[in-house]
Amino acid sequence: MTTSSPELARIVEAVRARQRFVLSSHSRPDGDSIGSQLAMLYALQQMGKEAIAVNADPASPPLMAFPGVRDIRIAPSVDGNFEAAIIMECGDLKRTGVSGLERYFVINIDHHPGNTGYGQINWFDASAAACAEMVYDVVRALGVPLTREIATHVYLAILTDTGSFHYSGISPRTFEICRECLEAGVDPVMVARNVYDSNNMGRLKLFGAVLGAMQIDQSGRIAIVYVDHEMARAAGGTYEDTEGLVNLPLTVKEIEAVVFFKQDKADQYRVSLRSKGEVDINAIAKEYGGGGHKNASGCTITGPIEELQKTIVEKIEKAIDGRPADR
Ligand code: 5GP
Ligand code: MN
Repeated sequence: MTTSSPELARIVEAVRARQRFVLSSHSRPDGDSIGSQLAMLYALQQMGKEAIAVNADPASPPLMAFPGVRDIRIAPSVDGNFEAAIIMECGDLKRTGVSGLERYFVINIDHHPGNTGYGQINWFDASAAACAEMVYDVVRALGVPLTREIATHVYLAILTDTGSFHYSGISPRTFEICRECLEAGVDPVMVARNVYDSNNMGRLKLFGAVLGAMQIDQSGRIAIVYVDHEMARAAGGTYEDTEGLVNLPLTVKEIEAVVFFKQDKADQYRVSLRSKGEVDINAIAKEYGGGGHKNASGCTITGPIEELQKTIVEKIEKAIDGRPADR
């Protein structure tokens, strides 16, 4: 199954015409950032191109098990002799947290609504369940064989960015691509085990502490979770260990949305928002200068925690009441 778009054709032309590439994605990379980036890296290498991946932050420990993840360079800036920067899974170039990328010919491949079109080529498709679906198209359009490494990264990205096939945005195409990935030798059991079953005990204890302190709003539809440095230390876990925790309250039938406050410093909080179905929490994240998708978004906000909780919960209640009827 192939997609055609003028931007995809321009990307193919631009890649063929160049030899040296730097690839980047958003800071605090998730499975789609890593999967998109490394699928592209391996494809370029197959073509005999020189390519390196540079990110602002390392991948979370479970992702380290996948091919090439340890070779991603972690740096706040780049200044090599590259002919193009391919940026994937980034709505804005600033989200890379890597400076210097703007000096190159920038190819922007992304599925985040509100992408700012910061590249010389901008291929944006909000209907892709993961940015890696688009990277898959690039790999195919370049005529590169879908090796097991490339397919593993595409599958990893789709599995994680759909919340294990929970979020809206999944299409027949998503499964078509996954089918191709399995044909190419991907072991879905191994991928799921590495991603979801490689916890340490500190992480499990921290989950227990955070979920034990969880609050539910008056209507019983919104879960409010909170973590600060002290709670993490006491449980023997780290902030990185809270990855994925925000999704757990959604496993309760009545819960429609979750807000997770992670204390950064003093009155500053990283906020993760999640919702089910037609409940759009992206607009709330955007109000605070953040972004993401309808069912999974984030932002950073500052203020007294009780007030922030009250305000955000009110906004989520409005989003739940104002949603279009579920399909
Ligand atoms: P998470 O809650 O897992 O950090 O992020 C959920 C989704 O929202 C991801 O797609 C992520 O890229 C996006 N996101 C999280 N924080 C921010 C932010 O501060 N700005 C923008 N633009 N997107 C964000
Ligand atoms: Mn994504």
